[in-house]
Amino acid sequence: MLALAKLLSSYSHRRMLHGELPKFSSSEPPGLYIHVPFCRSFCSFCPYVKTTYDPRVYKDYIDLLMKELALHDIAEFTSLYIGGGTPTSDADSLCKMVSRIRDRIQQEVAVEVHPLDASRDNLDLMRSSGIDFVSIGAQSFDNEMLRFLGRNHSAAQSLTAITNAINAGFEVVDVDLMFDLSDFPAEIIMSDFSQLLRLGPTQASVYPMMRFGGNNPKRIPHDWRAEAAVFEELEKIAQDSGYSRSSLWTFSASNTDKSYSSITRSFFLGLGAGAASYDGNIFSMNTASIRHYTKHVSNGIRPSRGHFQLNQFTSCLYYSFWSLYRGKLFHDEVRKLFPKAWKHVALILSLQKIAGNVERNRHETTLTTKGRRVFHKLEEWVTYRLIDPLWKGMKSENPSLQKLQET
Ligand code: SF4
Repeated sequence: MLALAKLLSSYSHRRMLHGELPKFSSSEPPGLYIHVPFCRSFCSFCPYVKTTYDPRVYKDYIDLLMKELALHDIAEFTSLYIGGGTPTSDADSLCKMVSRIRDRIQQEVAVEVHPLDASRDNLDLMRSSGIDFVSIGAQSFDNEMLRFLGRNHSAAQSLTAITNAINAGFEVVDVDLMFDLSDFPAEIIMSDFSQLLRLGPTQASVYPMMRFGGNNPKRIPHDWRAEAAVFEELEKIAQDSGYSRSSLWTFSASNTDKSYSSITRSFFLGLGAGAASYDGNIFSMNTASIRHYTKHVSNGIRPSRGHFQLNQFTSCLYYSFWSLYRGKLFHDEVRKLFPKAWKHVALILSLQKIAGNVERNRHETTLTTKGRRVFHKLEEWVTYRLIDPLWKGMKSENPSLQKLQET
């Protein structure tokens, strides 16, 4: 696993290319991700690209997203994930956009929903516009922790939001929870998790709090062993409640094979400020500046801030990493997508089998309990060594993020 980490690292230190971005071209229909960067208030932990919600700017931004989509010559997408920011700040405009493009999406349309936006009326509107999956950002049912996180809602409001979403009949209702062992005892996440599963969502996603850039002035290290142990305890609670661990940080109800999974498409086109795209060859990022984004898209120019060219081997590693995070790596799929690189990655996986980190048969590779612990550490490493530097670069472009860094 360390070898994998080092190889991925070599790419984090390569300079981004700033020349003309080659046309997005993947060997299969990509997933579509849309970033809506508006929030009514800012949470203390949040590194995402965002700015203060303004109803007029939100509406204009939706028009820009449709203009940006038209700059790409792609007829159909496998799925659509809409994240933010808080996409549901203006549920009416959001649903109008979804209705416009719903027939170009082959499978699910999924949206992150803020607990304060999950009224029955809003959720019914979302359902009728063609949204199938929702993810409710509850984060915790402990009001003290919510205050610490800077959330602008209470535990009671989250519980109502989750119940409303389940009753609205979405195919998947995912709920995000967070834990932070530096400031709160593990009992809080155990209690939050048990309470959540009693409500019966399709999926529970649990994240250790990441302290990005300016959010970690004291450089508090993660106790990754303690965090991995939390997940093993959650796994036991899940099993007793009819759920199972479906990916590194998610748990799914045993009566479903569907999952809310925005980051694990094979290839994806990202629209909006700060969105990333990956076509199996080029990994690119849009500008995080809403002003630059508006100017470029209004003039019919793709709003890229730079891109990395990945070779087959690194693409294959990247793909394999996210497949294992998701829970399973299908060998035929990887061989088909990356024929020249597969044998090298297969060798790395064989070594991981000897180390006891993965189980393999002829068709698939999965993580063992030991492998999940290593992967948990690796995932944090990827977050701090690969993702955080990218976000730091974005902060210099977006005044809202800059302000957050300074506070
Ligand atoms: S975590 Fe908070 S600040 Fe970040 S996108 Fe969500 S609502 Fe906005």
